[in-house]
Parts: sequence; C-alpha cells; structure tokens
Amino acid sequence: MLPRRPTRQISIGNERTGIVRIGSDAPVVVQTMTTGYTWAVDDCVTEINRLAAAGADLVRVAVPERKDTVALREIINQTSVPIVADVHFHFKRAIEAVEAGVHKIRLNPGNISDREQVNSVIDACRDRGLPIRVGVNEGSIVERKDKQKRLRELGKFFSEHKQGHLIALMITRMEEYLDIFEDRDFRDVVISAKSMDASLVIDVYSEISKRFDYPLHLGVTHAGPRETGSIRSITALGALLANGIGDTIRISYAGDAADEVADALELLYCLGLRTRKGAELIACPTCGRIQVDLFTLVQNVRRTLADEIELPLKVAVMGCVVNGPGEAEGADVAVFAGDRRGIIYVQGQRVANVPEHEILDRLLEECRGLERRVRAGEAKLGDKKVEIVPPDPIGELGSGIKRIAAGQVEQVTVGRT
Ligand code: SF4
Repeated sequence: MLPRRPTRQISIGNERTGIVRIGSDAPVVVQTMTTGYTWAVDDCVTEINRLAAAGADLVRVAVPERKDTVALREIINQTSVPIVADVHFHFKRAIEAVEAGVHKIRLNPGNISDREQVNSVIDACRDRGLPIRVGVNEGSIVERKDKQKRLRELGKFFSEHKQGHLIALMITRMEEYLDIFEDRDFRDVVISAKSMDASLVIDVYSEISKRFDYPLHLGVTHAGPRETGSIRSITALGALLANGIGDTIRISYAGDAADEVADALELLYCLGLRTRKGAELIACPTCGRIQVDLFTLVQNVRRTLADEIELPLKVAVMGCVVNGPGEAEGADVAVFAGDRRGIIYVQGQRVANVPEHEILDRLLEECRGLERRVRAGEAKLGDKKVEIVPPDPIGELGSGIKRIAAGQVEQVTVGRT
C-alpha cells in the first residue's frame, strides 16, 4: 500500500447512507456528479442510485435554483449514498440545502466571498455537523482588474514553476478563504484547487499539501471528452496519489458519469489504494499473430464479468501462444488462442481446448465455476504456483501453434509445481 499523507479526517453521511470518512487512513473516496437537473426528482434519484451502483461513494448535485434545493428534500430520502450540494453564486442555496438534509456543501471562493455570507453557511453546517469543501477553480479565481500586474507579482513566489503566478493566486485565495473558517473555529473542511492543466494540478496540489492539513479532493476540471479527459485526469491524479497526496477524487469529463466512476476506481485499484471489487481483465493488444477475433471476445468477456462476477478473479484473454502461457501463469482463469481455437486454463490447469465460437461460453462457465468454488471454500483466488516450460522446439511458429492447439505438442505447458 502506498504511504498516505496524514491529514485531518472528516465524516459524511448517516446511518441510512452509511458513514463515508475522508482523510488520513480512510480509503480514497470516489465521487462524481450528476448531469441532469436536480429539480427533476425521479430522474435525479435514478441517476444518483445508478452512480452509487457503479461504485461512487459520494454523489454531488448542482443546486443553482431554489427549486433544486426544494427537490433535495425528496431526493435525499431515496438515495443510498451521501449527497453533496454544489453551490455557486448564491449562499442561500447552501443554507437551503443544509435545511433540506444534504450531507456536505461545496463552496467556490471565486463566487461566494462575502464574509458574512460564508459565516452563515459555516454556522448552518456546524449546527448539523456537516463538512464543507472549499473548491477553488483556476477558471473562477483569476482576477479581472489589473490582472497582468497582479499575476506578475504573484508569479515571483513560485518562479520555479512554469505557471507560478497561477499557483500563487490559487493558494493565496485558498488561504484567505480558509481564514474565514478558522476565525470561526470551523475545521470540518476538505479543500480542492482544480485546473484543466494536468501539470498545474500536480504542482498546485503538491504546494497545498505542504501548507494545509485538511483532506484534499483531487480533480482536473474541464478536461474534455472521455478520450482525453480521462488521460488528463489520470495523469495528474495518478502522480499525486502515487506520492501520497489525495483523499477523495473525481475524474470528470464530458461523458457518462458512471464511466468517470469506473475510471476512478480502476486508477485506485492500479495504485493499490482500494481493494478491487469484481474481476480484473487482462487482454493482449493483438498484433499480426492474432488467432481469433479478440476484440469482440474481450468486450463480451468484459461485459459479462462486470455483470456477473463479484470476486476479484484475474481473467486473461490472449490472442496467441506468444504471451498467452505467460499470462495464464498469473491468472485465475485464462484463455490463449491458437489456430482459431482457445486453450483454457483455470489456476494453472489446462481444462479445455475449444473452437473459437465456444471460447466465450466456456471461459465464462469456468469463471462462474471458480467463483462458486471460492465462495464454498473449495478454492482460493491467486492460490496457485505454476511454471511455464518454454516451447522447445515448436518448429515454424505457424505449425507450432497448430500443433499446440490440436493438443499434439506438450512442450508449452502450464501446470502446478
Ligand atoms: S499475445 Fe500474441 S496476438 Fe496478442 S499481442 Fe502478444 S503476440 Fe500479438
């Protein structure tokens, strides 16, 4: 497990939603945001519950109008995860959301800055024991008046950074805003400082982590569609998390929020920061040695595993004999292709050699069977020790694969030792 930066810890939720802890030794929390209108109660509830089922620990909703905070009263009783109200411009929306029973408030220092207004939100949250996220966004803090002069002055503080002026501006705004909270002796706070620039995000959070002990919510904002947005987000968040920085994350892009959650979870699984739920799929990228229609096979396997398998089975789907046995060695269930057939292994034992059109069904049958045996205590995931005897000789590659697939060559074996 990667070391984590020690921080304060906050709790969100109640008995019904479960308590989600953020900070220090708590698992890194995954959150996302609904894309529909909050006032459309039924659709909003459906969306929140769909995101919770996808693995979101918290779901944030926008409350730009009074009808949104009114809707929160109904929404909150029908959802299974804590809800965060995202408030901009109108501090009264925050007060209304608190009164409606929301579990956390997000404020933007760039558009709610009046001290008295912020104090009234702090007092309302304190009365209900709710935390507040202070979310600075690069896009909403850059000052319009004397902008160039101000940026030049601020840039001197972080001159070693490419965008030192922005880092200085974001941190200065964060410090000023947090003074209001600390003057009120309110420390149930999470902080964030997002930008669309992944390298700026890395730099600004690195600096923030040295200055504050509040838990950090990581994110890259305005990251574009999934194709680029997930890469931008994972570049920044992965670098920070690998250095122990970050307590809750949102991967955000213009796309399905359930995909945001899936990508965030995969990032945390890859870094060993969360325990994997469901199967882990390994698949080769394919090349000119491909022996079956692997892309279709992989997508079909992925969909079924996501729907049916709850235990963290490691499943490998490989296009030929070159790397197939190697992945079979490390997987719980594996198939590698040869001459339009699939050779299937379960925990190192060869269990089948089937034609291409039977691979999907047989592989999934083996996955289900192994999951059943693990649940019954008859097998254990990862409980295998296998070795590969290299193919020596298999002659011409093509003929070797044909002979292996036909079961005529035993030099390529994966078996227990
Ligand atoms: S396993 Fe075979 S088909 Fe897949 S990428 Fe490797 S060499 Fe190519």
